[in-house]
Amino acid sequence: MPATIQGLYAREILDSRGIPTIECTLWLDNGAIVATSVPTGTSVGKYEAHELRDKDPEHMIGKGVLSAVEFLNTTIAQSLIGKDPTKQFEIDQLLVDMDGTSNKSKLGSNSILAVSQCVLKAGALSLNVPLYYYIQQKYQLVPELNMPSCIYTMVNGGEHGADNLDLQEFEIIPASHIDYETSLNMAVTLFHKIEEVLSIKGAIHSTGIVGGFTPNLYSNTDVFEILVETIKASPYTFAQDVFFGIDAAASELYKGGKYELKDRSEPYTAKEMIAYYKKLRDLYHVFYIEDPFQEDDEDSWKAITAELGETTKIVGDSFLVTNKEKTAAAIKNKTCNAVLVKPNQTGTISETIEVIRIAKEAQWQVIISHRSGETNDDFIADFAVGVGADYTKFGPPNRGERVAKYNRLLQIHQEIIHSQVGAAEQTTQETVHSDESHVTQQPIATTAPVNPPVVDETPDAAPPPPPPTEETTT
Ligand code: PEP
Ligand code: CA
Repeated sequence: MPATIQGLYAREILDSRGIPTIECTLWLDNGAIVATSVPTGTSVGKYEAHELRDKDPEHMIGKGVLSAVEFLNTTIAQSLIGKDPTKQFEIDQLLVDMDGTSNKSKLGSNSILAVSQCVLKAGALSLNVPLYYYIQQKYQLVPELNMPSCIYTMVNGGEHGADNLDLQEFEIIPASHIDYETSLNMAVTLFHKIEEVLSIKGAIHSTGIVGGFTPNLYSNTDVFEILVETIKASPYTFAQDVFFGIDAAASELYKGGKYELKDRSEPYTAKEMIAYYKKLRDLYHVFYIEDPFQEDDEDSWKAITAELGETTKIVGDSFLVTNKEKTAAAIKNKTCNAVLVKPNQTGTISETIEVIRIAKEAQWQVIISHRSGETNDDFIADFAVGVGADYTKFGPPNRGERVAKYNRLLQIHQEIIHSQVGAAEQTTQETVHSDESHVTQQPIATTAPVNPPVVDETPDAAPPPPPPTEETTT
């Protein structure tokens, strides 16, 4: 008999910005307990699923999540008792149906994701396998386990910064052939070197809400000059070992039909913005551009993809909001060429997986991202490896809630390396008990033979068997 869900308990906790979010604890009838917490954003896309907040000015500056927690501890908890946690799609569908709205405005994407994420963790635990491995085997989005490359935000502006720089993120991206530990070493070396360079220049080197530097520089291009100088003073070669990326978060720059940047007194038309991005690419090897235009400016998205997309990742975050229909439309209309994935933009793991699946089918690159309001939960690191992400975007190697993800990637990297060594000697594969055939235990190895893809409980698959009838109360 597979383990079943015996109870669930949610509570309001704080995220890394001191703003409420939800922690969910779930226990199984075999005694196993699992907990997770969900992140929240600052530069929130206007089409993201709805986050339920109490709006009670007397409690947590109106940002409390007590009503979402109440839903979880009553209606949702009751409906999950007795369910098999490996039935992710069935449980996610139940949550979507209970909500019944197009943007999760009844139960809130925050309460829904807290459960969905917890169930995924519980599924892995019930089969006694690592979470990243469970995800890879369950969804078969990638044939074998590999580490993603990392995008490290070093400097912050926009909503994450100090009101002087317009672009929200200035990122360094180690060349993708560089292995994870070397890449992390590079990020740490450069992060501390930037601090030195900023000190020498007398530019204040405090940090912003996600931990990137928020220096008192005057223009966005000043930041690139500092970054180039830093790399030149380091052991690394610019545009060979390391490249640049930006998150323009352009919805925040859009005023009265144009884009305002402090680099120039006149606001930029969309056409001028493309020329601006092209200049950044040519001068500074910026080959990753996230949200170059606001979410409704589709013509400009299409134009920049046509003009720069050959050599540059044009990445939809607030533009696609981890939404299946929007991603499918962008693939069809060629309005960008890569997707940033944040599970809380949509609300369930199953819906997030669908977005990744269609992006991968279109040969798009997938970037799995943190939010600015994070917790110490390292779930997203396992998720990124399990779905075979091309890149992660977890912020700089600074602040506990960001570093938790990088440290988890270190553990996973070690496990993958060691299992590769073990796989050379190991020839047998043992099957883990599961009443769905999609999770089998293999040597966790990139070199091990891989089972043919096994379809998860997708909407098109045969309906899952009914849940156990035995009712267990807490
Ligand atoms: C982002 O825009 O990519 C980001 C992580 O910020 P936020 O969570 O504030 O949307
Ligand atoms: Ca973004």
